[in-house]
Amino acid sequence: MTASVEDRAHDLRTRLESVQQRIADATEKAGRKQAPQLIVVSKFFPASDVQILHELGMTDFGENKDQEAAAKSAELSDLNVRWHFIGQLQSNKAKSVVRYASMVHSVDRASIVNALGKAMAREIAAAEEAGEPARPDLEVLIQVDFGEEFSPDHDATPASSGAQRGGVVPQEIAALAAAISETQHLTLRGLMTVAPLGAEPGKVFDRLREELDGLNRLYPDATIMSAGMSHDLEAAIESGATHLRIGSDVLGPRPAVR
Ligand SMILES: *Cc1c(COP(=O)(O)O)cnc(C)c1O
Repeated sequence: MTASVEDRAHDLRTRLESVQQRIADATEKAGRKQAPQLIVVSKFFPASDVQILHELGMTDFGENKDQEAAAKSAELSDLNVRWHFIGQLQSNKAKSVVRYASMVHSVDRASIVNALGKAMAREIAAAEEAGEPARPDLEVLIQVDFGEEFSPDHDATPASSGAQRGGVVPQEIAALAAAISETQHLTLRGLMTVAPLGAEPGKVFDRLREELDGLNRLYPDATIMSAGMSHDLEAAIESGATHLRIGSDVLGPRPAVR
């Protein structure tokens, strides 16, 4: 290894260990037997960092832009890692996303469900034609936006807050869940949220847990609660998150642009 690669590996190891310690502490404090799954959000960082983190035992990585994720996953196609798509998704990207993603966390409208279902059907037909084994179902989470419930500024229109972050209001979960369960090659695995700015994360995550428990009664596979980022992972673990999405506290601060 060159000196700079060694420095970066040391830097990543130190940061990762500190995040893992926080997760272990919070898991114990919450009285939970099992720590949540850590998804390292590698957006803005090079494939070489994913490689290093994989060598440190990381298996799950999150990306929020198709172009970047497609390139990175192609470059690392020989690594056995699971890619999670966590960003806002346009229908015309579905075809690309299903090629590398195991799970999409950010489903928030019927048109995306439809596009992902069609893209999966095409992938599976192509694999069959080529005599390759079919890929497993795409796991999907519904992204929920609690901005309306938690916004300190009640005058903010839900449409504008939702449009920026993505996500459905809680009242729309049931209809979207039904659409997903009716779509072949997609499996509804649970719910995801990003705590709205200014809201107390613990309260938001408790609401997500409540919605997930309700959903799970109808959909037994829906057991995943994707919540918790660098600054609020402790609150997410306390509320019962099963999957954490951690970027900057593992990889360092992201470049300010974009
Ligand atoms: C970037 C991002 C994360 C990670 O955020 P950090 O604060 O860097 O840990 C988690 N979830 C989503 C949806 C993101 O876009």
